[in-house]
Amino acid sequence: VMASMAHLQKEKLLEELLGLQEKLAARENDELSLSLQLQSQVETLKAKILEQAQEIGRLRSELGGTDAEKHRDLLAAENERLRQEMKACEGELRELRRQQQAPCRDCPHLQENAVLQEQLSQLQQEAEETRAKLVELDLEVQQKTNRLAEVELRLKDSLAERAEEEERLSRRLRDSQETIASLKSQPQQIKYIIKTVEVESAKAKQALCETQSRNQYLQEQVGMQRQVLKEMEQQLQSSRKTEAQLRAQIMMYEAELERAHGQMVEEMQAMEEEKNRAIEEAFSRAQVEMKAVHENLAGVRTNLLTLQPALRTLTHDYNSLKRQVRDFPLLLQETLRSARAEISQAIEEVHSTNRELLRKYRRELQLRKKCHNELVRLKGNIRVFGRVRPITKEDGEGPEATSAVTFDTDDDAVLHLLHKGKQVSFELDKVFPPQASQEEVFQEVQALVTSCIDGYNVCIFAYGQTGAGKTYTMEGTAANPGINQRALQLLFSEVRGKAADWDYAITVSAAEIYNESLRDLLGKEPQEKLEIKLCPDGSGQLYVPGLTEFRVQSVEDINKVFEFGHVKRVTECTNLNEHSSRSHALLIITVRGLDRSTGLRTTGKLNLVDLAGSERVGRSGAEGSRLREAQHINKSLSALGDVIYALRSRQGHVPFRNSKLTYLLQDSLSGDSKTLMMVQVSPAEKNTSETLCSLKFAERVRSVELGPVSRKAELASWPSQEQLEGDSPGSAVTPGRGHASHSSGQLSSRATSIRRKLQTSG
Ligand code: ADP
Ligand code: MG
Repeated sequence: VMASMAHLQKEKLLEELLGLQEKLAARENDELSLSLQLQSQVETLKAKILEQAQEIGRLRSELGGTDAEKHRDLLAAENERLRQEMKACEGELRELRRQQQAPCRDCPHLQENAVLQEQLSQLQQEAEETRAKLVELDLEVQQKTNRLAEVELRLKDSLAERAEEEERLSRRLRDSQETIASLKSQPQQIKYIIKTVEVESAKAKQALCETQSRNQYLQEQVGMQRQVLKEMEQQLQSSRKTEAQLRAQIMMYEAELERAHGQMVEEMQAMEEEKNRAIEEAFSRAQVEMKAVHENLAGVRTNLLTLQPALRTLTHDYNSLKRQVRDFPLLLQETLRSARAEISQAIEEVHSTNRELLRKYRRELQLRKKCHNELVRLKGNIRVFGRVRPITKEDGEGPEATSAVTFDTDDDAVLHLLHKGKQVSFELDKVFPPQASQEEVFQEVQALVTSCIDGYNVCIFAYGQTGAGKTYTMEGTAANPGINQRALQLLFSEVRGKAADWDYAITVSAAEIYNESLRDLLGKEPQEKLEIKLCPDGSGQLYVPGLTEFRVQSVEDINKVFEFGHVKRVTECTNLNEHSSRSHALLIITVRGLDRSTGLRTTGKLNLVDLAGSERVGRSGAEGSRLREAQHINKSLSALGDVIYALRSRQGHVPFRNSKLTYLLQDSLSGDSKTLMMVQVSPAEKNTSETLCSLKFAERVRSVELGPVSRKAELASWPSQEQLEGDSPGSAVTPGRGHASHSSGQLSSRATSIRRKLQTSG
């Protein structure tokens, strides 16, 4: 069994060995063919690498940095040449310009030249720009060269990698060959092993196993190598692709370079052409201008030739003028001498004429004054105005406060009063309706005020019952001043207008007559009673010793004086309104003038009197001081009426001494003085009886006839203040009306007498 077993094992082993040997041979063959294949592949790869290296070398030589540099150098050289040319052109141009400027400084083509120069500068600028572009292109070329160098470097790197790979592959090949050789040497060993296996089969089996595992390992290695080969092939493919890309890029760069170069060349050419054209144009223009200048020069030359004789005549004229100038002072002195003589003669003549004129002027002045006096006398020295105040809040409301006064639309001297259902008409010199302003009233008065400057005495009285507007007319309000302030303002302006020939001094006094005693409103002792005395100089004039006089020069001064007087009056009495209605307030303005040329002196007095209220107090059964006041007022108002009546009727005796007021105003009421009686009335229904009284007083004052016969008649009809008061309103209606019609008859007779007088006086 053992022997058969061993035999069987031997046979089996042999069979196996044979199979293994066959397999080995087949594998050997396989491996050999594979290695051959690999070798051939490596060979072809090497050839390809070589080819690529050559290709790269060729490419480098074709497009290498040197070429681009050369190109750039060429461009730079070209640029330099162009710059040189430009400089030369500029030089030429400068020269040309200089040549042009020299003869054409005043030529009209300077402007064109300037345009050309501008064009040139533009061209230069363009050239500059092109230069800048060139520099840019240079930069681009530089960049491209750099990139090319980079690409080369990368190529070198890939070549080195490929060489390394080759090295590795050949190493592996060697290894596999060695393995193959070792494998080849293995069969002998196997044979030996078989032999030994035959001896010890266990050992053989083990060796077989080992061999098998070895074989497996080798097979794995071959697979790996195949893999590596495949990768290498892929790498080769990718490197080829990059190469193609690089080549395309290089081509693109080249084309770009070519284009840029072409552009640059074109631009340079265009610039050159433009430059040439500009130069030509400038040259031709310069030629034309030169021609024009030459022509001008010729014209100037001919002008010069024609001017020479003119110059000769001018020189001649100049010389003769020079001679005249030399002789002029003598001539002037002579003329001056004769002129002086003539002037002194003329002055003499003027002097004598002036003297004559002055004499005539003085005569005329006297004549004017005489005429004025006559006119005033004819007009009547005493005028009576009526002023109706508006209905005020004080009049209350209802039927009592309605207006009882109406006016005539055609005649501003007539006024109608509705009293106890009957209309009474009155005619005065002028009637101011309620709407008449202070200004309008003053306009009627201002002629009187100015006559004061000519040396006349003037009296303006405000007459009427308390509350009828006397104080409003005389003093007015701060916003709307009355006659007092306006008169002073007018005097100032008149005096200023005459300042060239006259020196004037205006003084103001303020006094009050209360209960027949005179008090100074501007004095230090207001309570002191003043006396009216005859002037000791025997002139028969009256004066009040101790009456304060303030010199006023401006409106501010007047305001101060008024304020002062007002304050005095307020502090002196407990109820100013009441007090003022029972006293006469006087503002006495004295205007003293000196005519510097004639030495003539004038003194005019303006007396502005706010009379005490004319209401009939006595009838209301007043007692004590109230009764005394009323009696004094009645007495003084009657005396005023008497005096005015006596004056208007030209009586021999005027009873000035019957009251303090008339006595004080004696100077200003007599002679050729002028008097204005402003009769104030209230239009209110409740005041009609007082209004009637006031208007009767006014009309009677006014209607005094001038003739001696009627004078007597008037004398008989003149009522005293008491009588006026005693007149019952009812009984006054008929006489009033009768009187009014009678007065109009008197008016017409008076007008005829004035006419007659005017005719006789020629
Ligand atoms: P009298 O002095 O006669 O007593 P006033 O002058 O004091 O009277 O006047 C009494 C009131 O009537 C005052 O308030 C005054 O302002 C007013 N008055 C008088 N006349 C006028 C006028 N023409 N226009 C407006 N108001 C007037
Ligand atoms: Mg008053």
